[in-house]
Amino acid sequence: MANKTSLTVIQLNDSHAYFDLHQELFWQGGQAAYRPAGGYARIAAIVNQIRAERQDHVLFCDCGDTLHGTYPALKTQGQALIPILNSLGLDAMTAHWEFAYGPEIFKQRVAELNYPMLAINIYNKATKERPFPTFSVKEIGGLRIGLVGIACNIIDKTMPPSYSEGLEFTLGREELPSIIDILRTQEHVDLIVLISHLGFSQDMQLMSEVQGIDVCLSGHTHNRLYKPALQGKTVVIQSGCHGSFLGRLDLEIEGGNVVDYRHQLIEVERNIKPDPIVDDLVRHALAPFQEELSTVVGETTTALNRSTTLETTMDNFLLQALLESTGAQMAFSNGWRFGAPIIPGDVTVNDLYNMIPMNPPISTVEITGEEIVAMLEENLERTFARNPYNQMGGYVKRSLGFNAYIKIENPPGQRVQQVFVGDELLQSGRHYPASFVTEQGVAKKYGRNRQQHTEHIIDALRGYLAKHHPLKVELQGTFVAV
Ligand SMILES: [Zn+2]
Repeated sequence: MANKTSLTVIQLNDSHAYFDLHQELFWQGGQAAYRPAGGYARIAAIVNQIRAERQDHVLFCDCGDTLHGTYPALKTQGQALIPILNSLGLDAMTAHWEFAYGPEIFKQRVAELNYPMLAINIYNKATKERPFPTFSVKEIGGLRIGLVGIACNIIDKTMPPSYSEGLEFTLGREELPSIIDILRTQEHVDLIVLISHLGFSQDMQLMSEVQGIDVCLSGHTHNRLYKPALQGKTVVIQSGCHGSFLGRLDLEIEGGNVVDYRHQLIEVERNIKPDPIVDDLVRHALAPFQEELSTVVGETTTALNRSTTLETTMDNFLLQALLESTGAQMAFSNGWRFGAPIIPGDVTVNDLYNMIPMNPPISTVEITGEEIVAMLEENLERTFARNPYNQMGGYVKRSLGFNAYIKIENPPGQRVQQVFVGDELLQSGRHYPASFVTEQGVAKKYGRNRQQHTEHIIDALRGYLAKHHPLKVELQGTFVAV
């Protein structure tokens, strides 16, 4: 290799199939502010500009949660994104929600991509073989660069079984040292870049335990890292979500070591001139869905977002619709991180699918007070576990119909202090009628008389908007950190 050289690494993570400009939340002083951001044509424009500036000393990686999250993606099982992604000049990816279509469909999508899907931690259950390559080697700017992928490891642990049919997922910690060894001793790489979808806390822990990774591109937990985190000699970045940001890391490399770096979290701003070729691809992909998606189904006076961990306006809207549709006393949904905000004004079909792209059926269950506390404790541990590897959730379980006072810092099983239903304490032995969406809302092990209804959540949301016009949503203090 050249004695001293440079490389610019660009990161895309958790873009969740946001094809085009959409609203994004930014904290501004004491409140949330909203402005449009993102879209692949603007992403392409930024990447093209960096390539021109850096004379192709550029590596561009995608950490996954790419093929799922919006209606056009869902309706085509990710296929609508393929021509767009193939136009971006990506070098490799790893995955998470891509598995929602089932492993076989995802493998088809991977075959259509012009870059590899990497994962050291996915195994065929029967054969113990790995269905995806573990690494690839790229020669860029006089450097041999080893790319290693670690996919999301919770797919077979907390998500619907169809997502992981025939597969098992590990943390990747056991596998990583031997892959690093192969890359250094057999492939003679100068630099190793890890493309991870474990989550930021998990990646920081892993990089403290395994040496030899130069750059860790971290995904899954939607962190906007305005500056990199350094773990030992590993530079770790993560770059928001919804394709509203790109991470840029300019590395100076000497004798196989990163000797200097600069970083920028680039906002994919509305005023960036879209790349015309990718813009055409985006218009073409969206055209079959445009009319339906732009249909106005209501109006909101509250800005609906999903950006805080304990309770959000967007999920309270969803939970209110669940309560009204079923007449239940409580409602539960998973604390998903994806979902672009909806600003005051018209609400469209597109907005509703961004909230809950799977459009699952509504279910009901009768659940005891004791089970509710157990379910909340389990969820709080998965969200706030001291051991990062035990963090397997998104945000705190979205809930409505009670007020829980919690001690986040407590050990597992000891966080829920008191739960009130109205003015009365939750009763352990009493069955409460609850409504929910997906097994991540209320897992199968909880409750009795579990029923799946014919109505799906998008219809319930539309019905709720029709009745409550304009929509106004308030936070209820469902979880109070004490
Ligand atoms: Zn994810």
